[in-house]
Amino acid sequence: MIKEMLVVGAGPAGTTAALQSRKLDKRAKVTLLTEEPHPEYSRCGLPYVVSGVVSSLESLISHPPEFYERTSRIKLMLHTRAYEIDPKGKTVSARNLKTGNEDSLHYDSLILACGGRPVLPPIRGVDKEGVFAVRTIENVRSLLDHLKMVTVKSAVIIGAGLVGMEMSEALIKKGLKVTVVEILPEILQSLLDPDMAAVVRERAEQAGVKILTDAVVEEIFGDERVKGVKVSTGEIETETVVVAAKVKPNADLAERSGIRIGKTGAIDVDEYMRTSVEAIYAAGDCVETRDVVSGRKTLIQLATTAVRQGLVAGANAVGGHERYLGSTGVCTTELFGIELASAGITTGIAGAVGMSPISARIAAPTRPKYFPSKSCIVKLLSNRQDERLIGVQIIGEDGVSERANLAAHAIHMQQDVNEFAKMETCYAPPVAPVWDPLFVAAQALTRKLEVEFDKRLERLALEIPVHFRSVAAEKLVEILINSPNVKRMSDEVMKRILFNWQRGALSTEYGLQVLLEAALALEPERTMSLLSERLRLYAPVLELKETRIPTQPRLLYNF
Ligand SMILES: Cc1cc2nc3c(=O)[nH]c(=O)nc-3n(C[C@H](O)[C@H](O)[C@H](O)COP(=O)(O)OP(=O)(O)OC[C@H]3O[C@@H](n4cnc5c(N)ncnc54)[C@H](O)[C@@H]3O)c2cc1C
Repeated sequence: MIKEMLVVGAGPAGTTAALQSRKLDKRAKVTLLTEEPHPEYSRCGLPYVVSGVVSSLESLISHPPEFYERTSRIKLMLHTRAYEIDPKGKTVSARNLKTGNEDSLHYDSLILACGGRPVLPPIRGVDKEGVFAVRTIENVRSLLDHLKMVTVKSAVIIGAGLVGMEMSEALIKKGLKVTVVEILPEILQSLLDPDMAAVVRERAEQAGVKILTDAVVEEIFGDERVKGVKVSTGEIETETVVVAAKVKPNADLAERSGIRIGKTGAIDVDEYMRTSVEAIYAAGDCVETRDVVSGRKTLIQLATTAVRQGLVAGANAVGGHERYLGSTGVCTTELFGIELASAGITTGIAGAVGMSPISARIAAPTRPKYFPSKSCIVKLLSNRQDERLIGVQIIGEDGVSERANLAAHAIHMQQDVNEFAKMETCYAPPVAPVWDPLFVAAQALTRKLEVEFDKRLERLALEIPVHFRSVAAEKLVEILINSPNVKRMSDEVMKRILFNWQRGALSTEYGLQVLLEAALALEPERTMSLLSERLRLYAPVLELKETRIPTQPRLLYNF
């Protein structure tokens, strides 16, 4: 039977899905519709057309409309909005926005890839001439027409996320006076911790951008046209307002058809990109994505995520069984001459989802000391409870995205920081140092975790009541002697234990600490059970229970 495949939305998710369905099912009838007048294009390139780095809006369009029919037999319907789904009859009602013609399109499998739309703040004056969003080619065409007017000298940008900051750079390059207003205490908060974001902020301010944080735009004033904005901290005269605050998932069409919507307001999908309604899949900015670090469903509105999800939805819609494995939200950009990238979660988010984050930040050269070099700041985050890598943030002058991709992979694989720190990397003076900044940061984080672990052992040893200490020492020695793993114990640790034994000091705080370390490394389960059941040291033991026990005694490193 020839399958009828219908894809709503021709952004990266929808277009990838349509092409993948075609690739895997040569006979299927594939239709791709979009309300926009263009086939798929790079929204990510829009700020660079504003700055002039990219010469035209048209160059952002991946392929001309005829490409789809000609090379892939995909029927592309531009200017066409889907406004109703009938899941029982398996039809979608659509209207041509140019001609007004209506159509009822049958499907065997439907993919919703409706993307998102910019949220305009609910304030007076937001509908005035001179207020722009940055989502579509048409949005930016209107902005560019506006900027051609000789009276335009300044701009206020609402929102200091990636798009807001990219637009601030673009408009500075255009010679405008630029103010960015951000409601949060620092810029780029969804991807960087405040201390890292401050580095980018300083660069932006040096380039002439005025940044107001902890500030709210309360009103856009003027007649028909914008004359200025009222901010919580005062008034700013301007003729241009760019809104780059938030992107709302386009989930209304799905919701009206009875498809389950998640807590974030986006479409709820499973790992196969299936919605709650049979034969309907969804992908991209309109769906909730599983964040691999915390396991929660969240909004990760990135083209790279949309494309991966589109591949899975496209394959499964024609009978495949592909899984989308979740996202670390790895992303990057360049702002005011420095590259930045992040993956995983920030310290703030880690705390909010109940983790106990610990971080290390280092600055290191990207070449050996004796070679002309560039610098790089790396911040790595781990979760104290299991010592896995949960976040990376990098700012620097080269190789930033490659480092972030490598760390993102480790985050995705739930890698332990201690293991990650030992990874071997390539080296040659003109290209890379022996110790890449990423691994210098990982080692710093490992050391911090070790210090914390040692402190916990010290506390644990201290809290063993004096009259239990000799029993505890005896039991720990018993565990060690009987352990089939005893051969793995290093000579160094063995020497420490023997030294304390000869001095009769095994039941001192320090002697116990050495024994605990070795016993936890070789026989974690038996040691934990001894600690909790026989010695009843509840509080510190509970804390240790959540910690991944190191495979090698750490005291090795301390002596
Ligand atoms: C300025 C800017 C810069 C960005 N930079 C980056 C970056 O550097 N890296 C990165 O990874 N991401 C970036 N992004 C985000 C990225 O563009 C989006 O995540 C991506 O476009 C999402 O793809 P999508 O296919 O899910 O949705 P979209 O690209 O939004 O496409 C959805 C399409 O569906 C259409 N549609 C919606 N409803 C209907 C309907 N009922 N009927 C018909 N058509 C419909 C919409 O009009 C739209 O054309 C940027 C975004 C912007 C705006």
